[in-house]
Amino acid sequence: MIKKITDIFKEKEKTFSFEYFPPKTQKGVDNLYETAAELNRLSPDFVSVTYGAGGSSRGATMDICTEIQKRFDLSVLHHFTCVGHSLEELKEIIHQMNENNIQNILALRGDPPKGVDSWEPAPDELQYCYQLIDLIKDSDKDFFSIGVAGFPEGHINCPDKETDTRYLKMKIDHGGEFVVTQLFFDNAVYAEYLERLNNAGVNVRVLPGILPITSYEGLIKFCNICGTNITPEVHDIFRPIRDDEEATREAGIEFAVRQCRDLLERGAPGLHFFTLNKVEPAREIWKRLGL
Ligand SMILES: Cc1cc2nc3c(=O)[nH]c(=O)nc-3n(C[C@H](O)[C@H](O)[C@H](O)COP(=O)(O)OP(=O)(O)OC[C@H]3O[C@@H](n4cnc5c(N)ncnc54)[C@H](O)[C@@H]3O)c2cc1C
Repeated sequence: MIKKITDIFKEKEKTFSFEYFPPKTQKGVDNLYETAAELNRLSPDFVSVTYGAGGSSRGATMDICTEIQKRFDLSVLHHFTCVGHSLEELKEIIHQMNENNIQNILALRGDPPKGVDSWEPAPDELQYCYQLIDLIKDSDKDFFSIGVAGFPEGHINCPDKETDTRYLKMKIDHGGEFVVTQLFFDNAVYAEYLERLNNAGVNVRVLPGILPITSYEGLIKFCNICGTNITPEVHDIFRPIRDDEEATREAGIEFAVRQCRDLLERGAPGLHFFTLNKVEPAREIWKRLGL
């Protein structure tokens, strides 16, 4: 049944969810629906679909969200960034979400175009996520359930963690109802983040984002972009086996299972898995966790 994620929270103490991205080809999209069908057998509470940089996957994200909701009768969280869209375009997309019964939005600023040193939005564009939240709220106060991104280690462009916490609080004060975090590998960092948010008066659910490691090189590249710290433990496990795909895959599953168990024991309100559109290793981790 299609529900607002905040309504699912009322029924469930913990939620388990998968994240997909919109493929560029029709074959990729067909494969994604097969992946989603396989993972749907595990009964996730919801799934999310990312939005291409600068709005590049605009139509694809909407189509995939709509199709997954129809095929699987499953709530979908539509990622939605404001960078690169005019106000009119943003309003139109919000209107289409409403028409397609997409009630859950992960509101995001998005990253400015690559190679731009100091980005300024055009006069008819928005600069920050909290302004997008305002726009969504203005369009229909009650229809949408709105999530926001959180950065346990601080956003890469934010000067310090305290400032990052203030900006996160602003997103919640403007109508953000839950947080999905950037990937991280040190659970103490997540615990400290919760404490900072709590001290700032933020009490919404903070769903940890989990990336199963499948490639050491890929991990380094990705963390360079998003600013996640790769802990010495992760380097020590994955560096020596960097050329062994199978060993990396198994170590990635084991590491994720350990990390997830510890998070759940510490009281995390669920887990959100970045699947990279693959059935494995997400399914194997799910099984080993006994979810
Ligand atoms: C779980 C998750 C999912 C994501 N999904 C996508 C996706 O689908 N597509 C995509 O393109 N990107 C995605 N991103 C990346 C995200 O768009 C970028 O990290 C982006 O740079 C920040 O987005 P935001 O919504 O946190 O922006 P904001 O909260 O607006 O913050 C953007 C920057 O501005 C600063 N800031 C915020 N408020 C203020 C203020 N009031 N005054 C001054 N400075 C301020 C922040 O510190 C930060 O440096 C995702 C990130 C996460 C964690």
